[in-house]
Amino acid sequence: MSILNRITTFDGTRDALRPLDRVDNVKQASGDFRKQMLAGPKVRYYQSFELVRVPYPSKYGYLNAHTGPSPYIHLCNRLFVIQFESSEGLKTLLASPSDWEHQLETPFFKRLTDSYGVFAPVSEALVFRKTDTVLNILKKIGLDPADVDYITYDHLHTQNVTRWLGGPGRPGLLPNAKLLVMREEWESTHSLIPWQNQWYCPGGIDGVPMDKVILLDHDTSLGDGSVALVRTKGHTEGNHSIVAHTPEGLKVTSENGVSVEAYVPALSPVPGVAEFARYTGAEVVLNGNTAEYAIDQYISMVQEKSIAGPNPRDERYPNIAPSSESAGYWLFPRTAPGFRVGDLQYGTLQKAPPARKAA
Ligand SMILES: [Zn+2]
Repeated sequence: MSILNRITTFDGTRDALRPLDRVDNVKQASGDFRKQMLAGPKVRYYQSFELVRVPYPSKYGYLNAHTGPSPYIHLCNRLFVIQFESSEGLKTLLASPSDWEHQLETPFFKRLTDSYGVFAPVSEALVFRKTDTVLNILKKIGLDPADVDYITYDHLHTQNVTRWLGGPGRPGLLPNAKLLVMREEWESTHSLIPWQNQWYCPGGIDGVPMDKVILLDHDTSLGDGSVALVRTKGHTEGNHSIVAHTPEGLKVTSENGVSVEAYVPALSPVPGVAEFARYTGAEVVLNGNTAEYAIDQYISMVQEKSIAGPNPRDERYPNIAPSSESAGYWLFPRTAPGFRVGDLQYGTLQKAPPARKAA
């Protein structure tokens, strides 16, 4: 068994011409996949950390549903540090390691901060909450950057990965890490059409050596199968979900939804969201800033919640852990969700034996 193994459970589930047939097929396959994964081993360690909170248009966060007074919600970006066993020993994966200090050139954020003019320092301090950085978190938990084997992002909006992986003549700060990315996402990031490009950091993947990039064409399970990267396109052309088998079930992470209740909109106190679910019958509300594949995104969110199953902390909600979670904020009235995942921790971080470090 190698470290990356192809998953075939979802093959063909989106081939039907009729969208609701696709929804049914994906639901059924998700149930099978969930059973298989729950029967296997769990991750050795899983912990999430708040990095930064940023303003994000409510009209995109709850696409077609939001009717509240605040033009923005406050999104909390998290880093997930995950360790899993493999035939080559313990592997360390960082999911969503946002180098947020170096991605503010993303056109959407640049326009926003430029619009503050002379009020920039105050406005920025009010709307951005800078909690921590990836490198600082690694230091705090005692993880050597050289011990990171893989990094992955559910999609590449706003990301700047060049510092992590290096470029021509310049080593990466995570010297042994390889990026796991769906081929569509990688290719699309190289060649964005206008409006897509508002959300990608200019030069965010430029110069990254291809021997640091693993392009995936399929749903893929990692190592002993306690982590899976499942294709859940829609929010972007090639986004995927990170599924981790934890002591609290299968945690599913992506940015298809901005809150857990985006997956059960009927329970949302955010104005418009529950009503939208009631009058349309929608099972989910999309996070759609570029709306690249909206029908696929709907199906993907149904898939994510069917894989996740109920959250053991409150079974009315699915076991989703959004990579960017709407956090609520006094400046953005009536945007606080009814349920928040917050930071999670399972197991204890294993540090690499000295022998490996010397190698
Ligand atoms: Zn996005």
